[in-house]
Amino acid sequence: MHTPFLEADSLPPEILELCLKLRDASSEIDQRQIWPSEQLGWLRDAGVYRWFIPRAYGGDEWDEAQILAGYLALSQSCLTTTFVLTQWNAACKRILGSDNQALKEELLPAMAEGSLFATVGISHLTTSRQHLGKPVLLAEPVQDGGYLLQGFSPWVTGAHWADVIVLGATLPNATQIIAAVPTSVEGLTASPGASLVALSASCTDSVELDAVTISESRVLAGPVANVMQTNSGGGAGGLQTSTLAVGLSLAATGFLKEHAEHRPDLAPVASKLEQDTHALVTALRCLSLSAACDMNAAQLRQRANSLVLRSTQAALSAAKGAGFIATHPTGRWAREALFFLVWSCPQPVVNASMCELAQLSEQ
Ligand SMILES: Cc1cc2nc3c(=O)[nH]c(=O)nc-3n(C[C@H](O)[C@H](O)[C@H](O)COP(=O)(O)OP(=O)(O)OC[C@H]3O[C@@H](n4cnc5c(N)ncnc54)[C@H](O)[C@@H]3O)c2cc1C
Repeated sequence: MHTPFLEADSLPPEILELCLKLRDASSEIDQRQIWPSEQLGWLRDAGVYRWFIPRAYGGDEWDEAQILAGYLALSQSCLTTTFVLTQWNAACKRILGSDNQALKEELLPAMAEGSLFATVGISHLTTSRQHLGKPVLLAEPVQDGGYLLQGFSPWVTGAHWADVIVLGATLPNATQIIAAVPTSVEGLTASPGASLVALSASCTDSVELDAVTISESRVLAGPVANVMQTNSGGGAGGLQTSTLAVGLSLAATGFLKEHAEHRPDLAPVASKLEQDTHALVTALRCLSLSAACDMNAAQLRQRANSLVLRSTQAALSAAKGAGFIATHPTGRWAREALFFLVWSCPQPVVNASMCELAQLSEQ
């Protein structure tokens, strides 16, 4: 038995079919821990990459409300594939927000048709390695406006499978650049993917850059202070991370609701978690349309983190020992929910989460 997708009415039938296929295959990619090439091909065939790209570059230019509905449906079907899509989307946003017209024309039409996979390595400018006091990836200016890149990017999803990585790097004067670096350049080594608590199939790993030279034509933004604030990609902890947490919560509450139909003791739990999930769907809608909302993006992220942990663990508790079998969806969802504790999580949200776990009122 399958719970209907939230927002089903607003999505084209091919997307609903895609979601069902993704859901059926989600346990297998988790178990096999291999790059979801097939799933990404299904996204291409269903035109998903086109949602994010303007018509001028061959996209379908979906609006924020449609993209939110699409992400909620995809993330309740297969979190790994949807997460990989978000990293492609993060690269896409940086390219779209750039003034580098030639790079836009080179990359965006191929991204729209799904023939070029791009990803990002930018968290070392926001949420990773911030306590070290020195940049992990340096960009030394060279002749003709180019740069020599030296160091590493600690987290890059699908790096080994990508054609282009949108990378952040820091100059000796502490200004920063973002550049679209082809993975074929000499000196770039993308590791194959670390074994993770969940989402291992996303093949997330570090990328080493040993004297990689890039020309000025590869630069998307900068050099400027705080480059992440300058083009349209936004900083860490954006609405997208909360959307995926809410999507996973929808999967878990759907499971509880379905089981509550013949186990009345589950009904109050299912109904409370459903209410909480719908409140966050409403908040996501308001914030993505810049409408008035009773919470800001950081509060939403914190509540989404709390909800995804509670709802997935409630689903696992309802599934009992059977849920603890590695192939059972509830056990996987509970593992996947842990990801939101660490993914693109701004320090105030991390602090708030830890205070909640310690049952400590916030400092
Ligand atoms: C599965 C996965 C996929 C990801 N994909 C991408 C991606 O595609 N692109 C991208 O840009 N980013 C990606 N990220 C990065 C992510 O968004 C976060 O930036 C990352 O999870 C932050 O963790 P960190 O270990 O790097 O944090 P850090 O803060 O660098 O922590 C590293 C280590 O230092 C310790 N530490 C932290 N603060 C201090 C301190 N003040 N003093 C002493 N020690 C300290 C920590 O305990 C930890 O052991 C991904 C992360 C994960 C887990």
